[in-house]
Amino acid sequence: MTEGRYDAIVIGAGFGGSSCAGLLAKRGLRVLLVEKNAVAGGKALSLSKNGFTYTAWVVIGAPVEGNLYQVVLDELEVADLAKLVVPKGRGSIYETPAGKFVRMPDAPSDHLDPKLVFDWLEIDEVRRAPALQFFADMTLMPPEKVKELSGTSFDEWLGRADIPRPLRAFVASLCCDGMFMVPVDCLDAAEAIASLQAIFLRGGGVFCEGGFGRVAEAYCESVRRNGSDVLMSTRVKQVLVEDGRVGGIETDKGVFEAPIVISNAGIQPTVLKLVGPAHFDKGYVNYVRDLVPSYSLIGYRYFLRKPVTDAPFGVIFSDESPWSLDRFNRAREGKASRRGVLYYEVPSNYDSGAAPEGKQMFMTGSFCPPDPDLDKAELEAWARAGEEALFGAFPDLEACIEAKDFYTTRSVSNATRDSVVPGVGGETIGLGQIVGQCGDRKPSIRAPIRGLFYVGCDAGGTGVGTQQAIESGMNVADAVARYHQLRKSIR
Ligand SMILES: Cc1cc2nc3c(=O)[nH]c(=O)nc-3n(C[C@H](O)[C@H](O)[C@H](O)COP(=O)(O)OP(=O)(O)OC[C@H]3O[C@@H](n4cnc5c(N)ncnc54)[C@H](O)[C@@H]3O)c2cc1C
Repeated sequence: MTEGRYDAIVIGAGFGGSSCAGLLAKRGLRVLLVEKNAVAGGKALSLSKNGFTYTAWVVIGAPVEGNLYQVVLDELEVADLAKLVVPKGRGSIYETPAGKFVRMPDAPSDHLDPKLVFDWLEIDEVRRAPALQFFADMTLMPPEKVKELSGTSFDEWLGRADIPRPLRAFVASLCCDGMFMVPVDCLDAAEAIASLQAIFLRGGGVFCEGGFGRVAEAYCESVRRNGSDVLMSTRVKQVLVEDGRVGGIETDKGVFEAPIVISNAGIQPTVLKLVGPAHFDKGYVNYVRDLVPSYSLIGYRYFLRKPVTDAPFGVIFSDESPWSLDRFNRAREGKASRRGVLYYEVPSNYDSGAAPEGKQMFMTGSFCPPDPDLDKAELEAWARAGEEALFGAFPDLEACIEAKDFYTTRSVSNATRDSVVPGVGGETIGLGQIVGQCGDRKPSIRAPIRGLFYVGCDAGGTGVGTQQAIESGMNVADAVARYHQLRKSIR
């Protein structure tokens, strides 16, 4: 007994699924969007508690100018439902080799001024000219040259330039450890350079009032306004496949039919669980099983009795912060320091409605393996490393804590994708943007089953987290709309 028939079903209302569903409904397809959570937004959903509202964890949007949140909000005509904000002021903090925490000075412009960065990072005068040349070469590199660097690691590419250590740490910490969540010697250089260009030329640090989840919720609303359906709090149990083509989905609320199913649930959960390995050839199943996720961010939400900073967001780092694969693996075994870069965000410093009068909420995130089943001791060891950096940079903070929430790899997996491969599921981004998984080697948006597509950070986009997911949503909507037209024309 079927509950309904649609042109296309989208599984998951993360940034990839909700943007894709919104765009398809706007183009006239009858769409069903099914989400297991009560709210949209997936890895960037909004929460509220005791008068505080916020994105569930540290999520910093970039670029500022021309960001895809706004492009799709405008196209779907729901810009009134999600207000983006660009905070004034910078909060990045450099821990000098002498152990002093120094905040980046504010600049008159929203764009990164190299001279200001050089002064802050105490770069010798004699080393500034080559460092400036490095910035210029990177920022102005033409797209075809950037593309040629796909397959080279960002570490190898950085190693070709003679840049001072603090500057290297700043670029690597900013880029790999926060934007991509993979060690610098694994990160694909083309992905890294394209995103840094976007930040240097178009600004970094855009947020949404009420948390980023509002953007995905606005995309869902546009699905409804265009006459299609959204089913929240509904888990997809199975994608129905017969004779190598999709026929619909089975959920905890019944069966829905469609000749097109687009999954935002992650390529591994889709293939290995929702469809099931028996429907694919062994080579494809092994390929999917071997895909490598990004690493994870874990941290705290500190609810403070009074404000401790005016900074809206920032990164705390030292020359030692950047992760290499070897250092990460040694840290995991307890043979190297777990201390890396720490990201933080303070929503009430860009959104006046984010905290009750006179209070502040401070969120942090630091590196951790993506395993949702990490034991308590290991989780605490990774989190402690983050707190050491935090309390060093903000010595007054600890005394102001009224309550704190700990979010872990399990929290991220529960809110987003199921863990179907051991050690995987709590990743921050989705598929790791590492050498061998980017550019031409990124998984195709089309599965080897007719009518089955993937959307979100595992296929179809490039760039940083939420932007990558939306870019995928736009690209997949184009491909699916064409596929839908083609099917109609040959019937
Ligand atoms: C701690 C943390 C910090 C981050 N920081 C940043 C940042 O600073 N900047 C940035 O741009 N990005 C950041 N990101 C990454 C960014 O949020 C994600 O890369 C992006 O939102 C992923 O979008 P997605 O569409 O690929 O998938 P997801 O967000 O994973 O969405 C998938 C959706 O599918 C739903 N779903 C899954 N299975 C089913 C099922 N069986 N039935 C129904 N629904 C299902 C899930 O509930 C979810 O809503 C961060 C993420 C985390 C976790």
